[in-house]
Amino acid sequence: MPSQQSLSASFITTPEHLAQALDIPVEPLRAVHAVYPLRVSRYYLDLIKQHGLPLWRQAVPDPQELTDSAGLADPLDEENLSPTPCLVHKYPDRALLLVAGECAMYCRFCTRKRKVGKQEMIIDDAAIAAGLAYLSRTPAISDVLISGGDPFMLPLARLERILRALRAIPSIATLRIGTRVPCTLPTLVTPRLAAMLKKYHPLYINTHFNHPAEITAEAELACARLADAGIPLGCQTVLLRGINDNAEVIRELLYRLIRIRVKPYYLFQADLTKGTAHFRTTVNCGLAIMRHLIGHVTGLAVPTYALDAPGGGGKIPLTPAYIQQLGESLEFTTYQGHQCSYPNRIYP
Ligand SMILES: *Cc1c(COP(=O)(O)O)cnc(C)c1O
Ligand code: SF4
Repeated sequence: MPSQQSLSASFITTPEHLAQALDIPVEPLRAVHAVYPLRVSRYYLDLIKQHGLPLWRQAVPDPQELTDSAGLADPLDEENLSPTPCLVHKYPDRALLLVAGECAMYCRFCTRKRKVGKQEMIIDDAAIAAGLAYLSRTPAISDVLISGGDPFMLPLARLERILRALRAIPSIATLRIGTRVPCTLPTLVTPRLAAMLKKYHPLYINTHFNHPAEITAEAELACARLADAGIPLGCQTVLLRGINDNAEVIRELLYRLIRIRVKPYYLFQADLTKGTAHFRTTVNCGLAIMRHLIGHVTGLAVPTYALDAPGGGGKIPLTPAYIQQLGESLEFTTYQGHQCSYPNRIYP
């Protein structure tokens, strides 16, 4: 990874620079920036200029962020599910370790908008050490999701120290990294980074693309470097109003993802995060999209549509209702809408 100094040249971080780059008024940007951080990579800024609104809205501060009265600061109750400051433990066998406070872009719809990119999220060695100690004394956790912020924003040596420390805990079998860098600043995925990651298998990466225009030659190269290091790649897309909330856009995104060797993993219903209400769709919208996908599109490309339950109840799959009745006979409709049945019994 480049030095932190050369990295900073890759971003726009002030309302003034962003207003100038996009030729828009600076005042609304300043008002939002007083509450939430701003960062857009120069790479993503070029994509915004080429493709317009669906990418613009993900990155450019919007005054609507300040007028959301419905949302909650911490809709998934992560703070209460954190036995140590940077670790969220809500499932029996896996935990989320937050290792970085920064991202290559501050997505306006971020579910951790309360703290990502802010002072509250400076994660120091002591916080990481406390997370590692918890994982060591909790052997039921065999799968650790390394997220943040974005782990790929850390200096390479620091990320490697964390991976090595996790690998030294015998009860941890699989590691996962969640990163949006392959989408927002793909040039950070260097051969050196891929070579380092390769030493810590079994390692999985979930990345985050939301729109087909984000699948560029640079993103493809970043994903190829990771896939060539033997890392299975998934994608966690968020359903966003006016950005990707229709079947055609999602279908194109999914097809492009499997072509760059990324297996769509989750399509998320947006969380109830304060400051993001203008991005939320109804669940009906997501279910209608899933109906257009299931059976019609190669199963390889079809993600699980999921809702992260408010209050920390965990993710639940949202699936269109194909089953009408489950008795002595299963009555269901096919993806084409035909009635069908199947005998639901045990044969002697
Ligand atoms: C999403 C999440 C996980 C992982 O869930 P999977 O369904 O296994 O991908 C683990 N811990 C927390 C706190 C999460 O939010
Ligand atoms: S990259 Fe992820 S963690 Fe960072 S701002 Fe975007 S959605 Fe939030």
